[in-house]
Amino acid sequence: MNTAESRSLSNARPDTDAEREFYSPAAAEPLSFELIREKYTEIWHAALDADVTISQKGRPDLFLLSHAQGGGQLINASLLKTASGVYEDWCCCSQFDEHSHCEHLCAIRQHDALGLVTIPET
Ligand SMILES: [Zn+2]
Repeated sequence: MNTAESRSLSNARPDTDAEREFYSPAAAEPLSFELIREKYTEIWHAALDADVTISQKGRPDLFLLSHAQGGGQLINASLLKTASGVYEDWCCCSQFDEHSHCEHLCAIRQHDALGLVTIPET
């Protein structure tokens, strides 16, 4: 039975900061990897050059990136593609906070192109 109570439970906001970092699709903005590749080439190439391991976490759109160069620094990111072909994205890093795109999201897209991870489509 789908009561108001059960709906509110399923939409419950996360309680911890770690969960809140993951729970941010509402903050996601459209992303154009073509634009980044053309206009922000240094970010695109930094992602290409990065020795990063990407794993998927819990939900299909959640990714965990581990940088070999950064002493195993872990980055949480969310990336999915809508039916209209628009990417919705989020990353926990300061580069994303400032520019709404970052090398981590580019790395996920590059890994997706190589078939190493799968960006889910809604
Ligand atoms: Zn990032």
